[in-house]
Amino acid sequence: MGSTLSGSAPEADGRGVSLPVIQASPDSPPAFAWDSWYAGVGGRTIDIPEVKEYLRMIFEEQYPLFDGPVAPEQRRYSSPEEAAAAVKEKAREFGADLVGICEIGPEDMYRGRSVTERYAIAVGGRMLWRAFQVVPSRESAIECLRVYHALGETVVKLAAWVRSVGYACRVEHPIGDSNLLHVPIGLKAGFGELGRHGSIINPVLGPLFRMGSVITSLEMATDSPIDAGIAAFCDTCRACRIYCPAKAVPDARSPEAGKDHLGNDRYMVDTGRCFPYFTRHNYCSICLPVCVYHHKEWARDFEGHATALFPKVIMAEPPDPFDGISPVQRHRYPRLNRAQEI
Ligand code: SF4
Ligand code: SF4
Repeated sequence: MGSTLSGSAPEADGRGVSLPVIQASPDSPPAFAWDSWYAGVGGRTIDIPEVKEYLRMIFEEQYPLFDGPVAPEQRRYSSPEEAAAAVKEKAREFGADLVGICEIGPEDMYRGRSVTERYAIAVGGRMLWRAFQVVPSRESAIECLRVYHALGETVVKLAAWVRSVGYACRVEHPIGDSNLLHVPIGLKAGFGELGRHGSIINPVLGPLFRMGSVITSLEMATDSPIDAGIAAFCDTCRACRIYCPAKAVPDARSPEAGKDHLGNDRYMVDTGRCFPYFTRHNYCSICLPVCVYHHKEWARDFEGHATALFPKVIMAEPPDPFDGISPVQRHRYPRLNRAQEI
């Protein structure tokens, strides 16, 4: 998994050392234009005090902690494996449920972005199954933001630790503007396989987790993508498609959408159908707890709370699809069951 390095001007790593620049692939999607999407569907209508407070804490308290001084002395590791083990131990200490490392490639960045860091330390945080007993719901919306905030704490603390051992790094927060595409990074870091619903499915956690990362050039051993038969299972299971009220989950893979980490054509959700629905219905999230790979046969969540076997799913009439975003900002998605494709 070597990265393609561009010949662009090197950037300094904060310690005066020049590093090669990795440029995003011209085929990468543009960064998701959240403000334009929200403006197009009538603004942000989810009005839950706990959600607002998590957002305030993320943007007012966590974002200012992304930068800090890099210790002048670098801690030396005897091997990339030893460095990776130290980083992973710290990530778990700071709250990560999943941690993996991969090299950053041009295809892992949003169009027009560039980084000088060579590696991504990907972290995952699990969501509590007990908050998804009714979807969409106030509880499920709050849980979405709780995990983003918790993962934000993890990446901010991990970045501070990486700087404290003498290595520059940057935070790629789970929400807001980031350079990296979290899903390809998670796949390369071995978190799981890409499901029909467009989220990664981990063999143990299922799809109920979220991701962020810290990027750095500290040399570390990398992880590899996995093949646990999950993507193949998706070809016969259609639970998420059946329960998606917006009919945004595809029936078939999209050859024009590129390949997943196993070389399969990717499944691609119809964002123009999904987005208007989730903005009006507490971030929807139905496709995650109904996923067959969620381990609901345990009938308890990861902390031992008793739960139902299957969530109560509330499916409202979907609003009209919305595609009215400028072509420059738009990423590719299929127009499912509509006259115009992609
Ligand atoms: S979040 Fe809701 S609308 Fe979007 S794909 Fe999942 S189930 Fe469908
Ligand atoms: S519900 Fe079934 S088809 Fe959908 S992502 Fe989960 S396993 Fe795959």
